[in-house]
Amino acid sequence: MSNKPKFQGKVLIIGGGIAGPALALFLKKAGITAVVYEAYTYKDGVGGGLGLAPNGVNVLHELGLAEKVIARGSLTLENVFYNAQGRLLARIKRGAQKYGQPAVSLLRPALYDIMTEAMKAEGIQVEYQKRLKTITQTASKVTAHFEDGTCAEGDLLIGADGIHSKTRQTVLPNSPKPAYVGIIGVGGVTPAAALPMMTEREKQSLTFTFGAQGFFGYGGAENGDVMWWSNLARDQELTREELADLSLTTIKRELLAIYQGYHEPIETLIQHTHSPIKQNISDIQSLPIWHQGRVLLIGDAAHAVSPNAGQGAAMALEDAMYLAKLLRDSTGDYAQVFAQFEKDRKPRVEKIVAEGRRLAGDKQVVTPFQEKIRELMVMIFMNLFGERGYEWVYKYKIAWE
Ligand SMILES: Cc1cc2nc3c(=O)[nH]c(=O)nc-3n(C[C@H](O)[C@H](O)[C@H](O)COP(=O)(O)OP(=O)(O)OC[C@H]3O[C@@H](n4cnc5c(N)ncnc54)[C@H](O)[C@@H]3O)c2cc1C
Repeated sequence: MSNKPKFQGKVLIIGGGIAGPALALFLKKAGITAVVYEAYTYKDGVGGGLGLAPNGVNVLHELGLAEKVIARGSLTLENVFYNAQGRLLARIKRGAQKYGQPAVSLLRPALYDIMTEAMKAEGIQVEYQKRLKTITQTASKVTAHFEDGTCAEGDLLIGADGIHSKTRQTVLPNSPKPAYVGIIGVGGVTPAAALPMMTEREKQSLTFTFGAQGFFGYGGAENGDVMWWSNLARDQELTREELADLSLTTIKRELLAIYQGYHEPIETLIQHTHSPIKQNISDIQSLPIWHQGRVLLIGDAAHAVSPNAGQGAAMALEDAMYLAKLLRDSTGDYAQVFAQFEKDRKPRVEKIVAEGRRLAGDKQVVTPFQEKIRELMVMIFMNLFGERGYEWVYKYKIAWE
């Protein structure tokens, strides 16, 4: 295969989250020019932790970034399941080498740092404070118009602008909207100094605690600090004002009212937390189509998955790599590339999105009787099928060469 890609146009990437920078880096590897346009300033409002599954870390490895991610995060060697009183329900090995790269948990800003440094090193242009307003297309060009009155012209536009994608709203206005799954995600980071009771083994695990009042999870992040997250069942989504209220006093009070009495270190994680995040959890089960003219959606813009699947970031990374590979190997016919991309990616991502929706249901508030049934199910299914059940998700690999 010639190193020179047949597609030689300029790609506008909307969104500098996970899919956008990864796509820009893979396009660079393929010899294709791309510019990333991000609505916010660098890392503005970015918080929380991420569990990156092996299929996602394998993609980062292809960019030479897996070691950096491992260095800034914590390996996840096991998933451990407890009930609220701290009774062990199941323990699943994550198979550190089995899938190529290991699972890693890290803070989202750390992943941003790593990808931003890589883009800088590759000379990729990134424009911050460029919020997409609308898109126009002619037979030969696509133009992104930004809120600040400026615009940018390219040959293709890739919408990597997340679950509430303006790209999607603009070019596919009749698409299904994100659906609220009935839970509010609240999370934060607790410094290592507050957690002397946690062993290295505990930090190299993702712990999932199921209790009648709600679900709580945690795992190691950078330098021994621990990231945690919780699902609060709520019929109505929080308003914009409620989401913006990140007062630590209020968050701690609300969470302690729910999780008081859960096994340690849960209360300590809440008492000593910083960097809180609060989000309405939504997903997009299925869009009829992912592209229109010279515009294609990738990542959460095309197929947002509830965080319960622990796969959103990995799928965004897979999308980026696969799209760049298709463009590199194409005859230059972008319409064919877009159709192929959607055809090949849709079955996998929609299956994972459906699994995320199912897992969100498992983490709701339940009666004491339902709690006992759920504990039994976790014990039976996780111990019997836990690792094998996720094999098809983790072992997926895209060959770049
Ligand atoms: C609470 C929570 C926890 C999660 N935990 C995990 C986890 O542990 N593991 C996992 O794999 N996944 C997790 N996810 C899912 C994961 O975060 C997403 O699937 C992933 O971030 C998708 O990447 P993306 O690049 O498609 O979108 P995003 O990361 O959302 O990036 C979109 C970018 O586009 C920008 N943007 C938006 N609108 C515009 C505009 N108009 N113009 C320009 N730029 C714009 C945004 O500012 C943002 O930077 C979690 C999600 C949530 C909400």
